[in-house]
Amino acid sequence: MKREECHRVEQERLVFELSSPARRGTKPPKLDVPRQSLEELLPQEIRRADPPPLPQVSEADVVRHFTRLSVLNHHVDRGFYPLGSCTMKYNPKFHEGLARLPGLCDLHPLQPVETIQGALRLMHRLGRWLCELAGLDAITLQPAAGAHGELTGLLMIRALLQDRGSSRTKVIIPDSAHGTNPASARIAGYQVVQVPSNPQGQVDLTALRQVLDDQVAALMLTVPNTLGIFESQIQDIAQMVHDVGGLMYMDGANLNALLGIVRPGDMGFDVVHFNLHKTFSAPHGGGGPGAGPVGVKKELAPYLPVPVVVKSQDGSCTLEHDRAKTIGKVQAFYGNFGVMVKAYAYIRHLGLEGFRRVSENAIINANYLMRRLQSTFDLPHGQHCQHEFVLSGKKFQDQGVRTLDIAKRLLDFGVHAPTIYFPLIVPEALMIEPTETESLESLDAFVEAMIQIAQEAESDPEVLKTAPHCTPVARLDEVKAARDLKLRWQPED
Ligand SMILES: *Cc1c(COP(=O)(O)O)cnc(C)c1O
Repeated sequence: MKREECHRVEQERLVFELSSPARRGTKPPKLDVPRQSLEELLPQEIRRADPPPLPQVSEADVVRHFTRLSVLNHHVDRGFYPLGSCTMKYNPKFHEGLARLPGLCDLHPLQPVETIQGALRLMHRLGRWLCELAGLDAITLQPAAGAHGELTGLLMIRALLQDRGSSRTKVIIPDSAHGTNPASARIAGYQVVQVPSNPQGQVDLTALRQVLDDQVAALMLTVPNTLGIFESQIQDIAQMVHDVGGLMYMDGANLNALLGIVRPGDMGFDVVHFNLHKTFSAPHGGGGPGAGPVGVKKELAPYLPVPVVVKSQDGSCTLEHDRAKTIGKVQAFYGNFGVMVKAYAYIRHLGLEGFRRVSENAIINANYLMRRLQSTFDLPHGQHCQHEFVLSGKKFQDQGVRTLDIAKRLLDFGVHAPTIYFPLIVPEALMIEPTETESLESLDAFVEAMIQIAQEAESDPEVLKTAPHCTPVARLDEVKAARDLKLRWQPED
């Protein structure tokens, strides 16, 4: 059978044509309320006249349907996922199990605090651990994502500066920052001032000096930056920003390059956000629940969003709502608790020494890939990298091959594509992050695939331009795919 035919068979099995009248996979329990009262509860006019047009299938049909669906898209349980900046690492299933323990996942956010002491203590301890890992004094676990943490951090900075009587207007952001940084600064009401990178891919200090004045509220630094490079002059930068009365914000979404090695607080940062759904064992993607805690130095602690988990002398915990200087609420209740449970379990599992190994493995894996691929592709910033690196696909332009084509062809090898066309400062960028959880074998398989693709770009560019060939659907109209999502099966008639 030809490849296209195989895929067609798969597609046909997926649709709901398996339905057959009166076939059943479930048996609902007997009605245990008096029919009379049900009828009182459901007035005639809102009752359904006919049964809903649901497919009628057996349990086996349903299980097969969802199992097939689960592997149509690529995911990290299926294969390598080197999506730069996203840390698509493998997260132990054990932590999922812990987050599902009934004593934790059955809690209701409106329960009285006396009845959720264990959960509050877990949050308190998680906060202390994160502060310890990052060298900070106080923390909020509430923000639901990294970008949400950025906004929360900037609102705290704004409140502190207003208290000091200096309403400043500008936030400085290097061109190697993550894209959410300027967006968050704008939403917080600041004007964004961009500073360029020098040829080494680090902040250009001369350019920075020129934009520093008494209107600077903060500098936001992504560490490591989006080129995967550690800013070696952080202490000088911090000194310069603090000298004009500004604060230092670190985008710590990619802490898997630093944990157990250096602490942001020790390098001069005043505010840092974490991405629990990248670094700390919560899976992400598809808009699932995340958590972007924000840690701060002492002077910013009064501005933390409410409620704050506080531990009293006798060891019991409370949720403090009444705080004079708080920026207010940023999230319903106290945040995404299940994500916190996974992060707490991960931290207890690894300990400080374990985190150092996490970072070392992330860095070694990235450098291994970078050195093995540097002669096949262009590597604009060739120094030692951190957890990720950025190649350029521009040398295949003569064959009419773009980075997009390389990314599409990779799908045929069972690998998710790297981040492409970002960061903007590298033309035809391929941003690759292997993460600490990949084996040497999977890294080598990736290198072989990349080398084969580079050879094809020279010898048979059409294969790349028409890729992917082995996925369930061929090349998509990506705008339509994003704007015109079909998320629900609808019966034909
Ligand atoms: C992922 C990421 C963010 C944004 O995090 P979200 O949870 O997606 O909002 C911010 N900065 C960096 C460096 C990131 O990698």
